[in-house]
Amino acid sequence: MTSDDEVDICVVGSGASGSVIAAELARIGYSVVILESGQALHREAIPTAKPDWEHRTSDFYRSGQTDPSFGQKDPVVYGPTGDRRFRVSRFRGVGGSTMHYEGFYTRIHPGDIHRRRDTGMGADWPIKYAELTPHYDRVEKMLGVSGALDNRFEPERPAYPNPAIAMSCAVKQVKVGCDRLGLNAAHAPLAIISRPAPGRGSCNFCGACWFGCMQGAISNASQTYIPVAVRHGARLVTGATVSRVTVDRRGRRADGVEYLDDNGALHKVRARRVVLCGNGIETPRLLLMSSRTDFPDGLANESGLVGRYFTAHCHVSLAGSFDHRINAYKGPNINGMVQDFWDHRDDRDFAGGYVIALRNAELGPYYHYHRHVRKRGLFGEHLVSRMQNSFGHGVNISAYGEHFSSADDRVDLDPVRTDSKGLPVPRVTIRQGDNEIAMQQHMRQKLDDILQASGAHDIRIITASGNLGTHLLGTCRMGSDPKTSVTDASGKTHQIEGLYIADGSLFPTTTPANPTLTIQALATRIAHLIARGDGRSLATI
Ligand SMILES: Cc1cc2nc3c(=O)[nH]c(=O)nc-3n(C[C@H](O)[C@H](O)[C@H](O)COP(=O)(O)OP(=O)(O)OC[C@H]3O[C@@H](n4cnc5c(N)ncnc54)[C@H](O)[C@@H]3O)c2cc1C
Ligand code: SF4
Repeated sequence: MTSDDEVDICVVGSGASGSVIAAELARIGYSVVILESGQALHREAIPTAKPDWEHRTSDFYRSGQTDPSFGQKDPVVYGPTGDRRFRVSRFRGVGGSTMHYEGFYTRIHPGDIHRRRDTGMGADWPIKYAELTPHYDRVEKMLGVSGALDNRFEPERPAYPNPAIAMSCAVKQVKVGCDRLGLNAAHAPLAIISRPAPGRGSCNFCGACWFGCMQGAISNASQTYIPVAVRHGARLVTGATVSRVTVDRRGRRADGVEYLDDNGALHKVRARRVVLCGNGIETPRLLLMSSRTDFPDGLANESGLVGRYFTAHCHVSLAGSFDHRINAYKGPNINGMVQDFWDHRDDRDFAGGYVIALRNAELGPYYHYHRHVRKRGLFGEHLVSRMQNSFGHGVNISAYGEHFSSADDRVDLDPVRTDSKGLPVPRVTIRQGDNEIAMQQHMRQKLDDILQASGAHDIRIITASGNLGTHLLGTCRMGSDPKTSVTDASGKTHQIEGLYIADGSLFPTTTPANPTLTIQALATRIAHLIARGDGRSLATI
């Protein structure tokens, strides 16, 4: 085992949250090391940089995905009592899952953090909405979020740093239906730049966001916060899989971590503070793996809640076709939204709410041929005619809604299986309750209404019901009572001094919002509170 000098801050994970902690604290003089299990993915290696990128998308997934369906060797195991349709999708590498996210960046609404108070479901957040807003402003500025103030349900907010990305032809077509129904189809706020920035082009509507943005328009962590962190002296170690958080002899204070490099050699980093940013599955996994005789159930787990209340958004998607071409393969994957069903209402038969995303999610002709045409076995003019009459005619829209988890929805360690490094594989169990089923019925009806009113035909369900495996939340809840939460409102674990969590594990409820803007605002707040505790303040940006 090798050991480095002690650093002020050891950040585990370089994704959405880890990059924020590292950049904000390195910038004001903290010594920071970032340990990242995966590798850096350079822009020229992104499949969309090559003309045959549609062939290469599966390579991209394999390079970082940890979902077994993409052939990665470190799988997640699915618990026997869980929903078998749930499939985890995330990215292991510098930038974390922001490397193939869609950048849909909505703020939550004030009512979202009081679901328990207002509906008896879920748990209330231990912070006030006003404590988040300055951090939302800061993250949006750092990322150059593009948006417009045309959503009448948006809480009061300043103008966006960049003008909205124009709605595509396909989204405008669906907006016609929303207008007919009296729904407010607004521009989606996106972590995608609509104006060029140094070293980055603005969005060129190529439509490949999931597979990596060769323009550099998507504000993923590897081209926003990570370069700032490194420029200010943070040391980024790739191929470093943290296997344990270490604690002093008295069992009170975190004093560093151990990690395995890609050759299996064990290293120790000594740190005054450790901040876990591995996401809603890997952070509880690491705490559970860090057990020792005085913590037999894992670290910071006095409440028994590490890994419990695992949650992810409910999700329904519908597709439809139009007689004319609307070219839904052009434009950012999410390009418009409807927030009419976001806020909780007592007159509906479910608690909580949801958002509708208007999408350009068709991809190019190769994908269309393989997905929709090939199986028909057509040749010659029949094939040409089929392609002409179907490619560019389809659209799909999705709804993301709250999922109220129970303590039985959880991440724990598989008792038998280990990964390529010999570490126990995480096992996930997640289920739908009656509330989720009622919400999904409502979603299906509203999505169908919108497509019908837009003039679409051949309307079909793509995802009938289920949880979305891309938003991994809730497994180390924050709260004010150590009996019912793992951390306090500043992300500090109740039990262990110097040990923080800053990723989506903290969320007491999902809220209807795609989570990453809020994850990054919370991480900014945690950095701010760490600095303030030391008599410092974050740098001006
Ligand atoms: C296809 C897709 C589309 C998405 N679209 C959106 C969207 O439009 N809007 C939105 O808000 N969100 C979206 N998301 C979700 C978003 O990407 C995540 O919410 C966000 O990245 C989570 O941030 P995080 O910091 O918790 O984890 P991540 O960003 O996943 O980063 C975690 C990092 O930690 C590393 N790590 C984990 N464990 C260890 C360990 N033990 N040692 C060392 N390193 C470790 C991982 O390799 C990874 O790089 C999408 C996700 C996917 C997969
Ligand atoms: S549509 Fe825009 S954001 Fe998406 S990959 Fe293309 S250039 Fe990047």
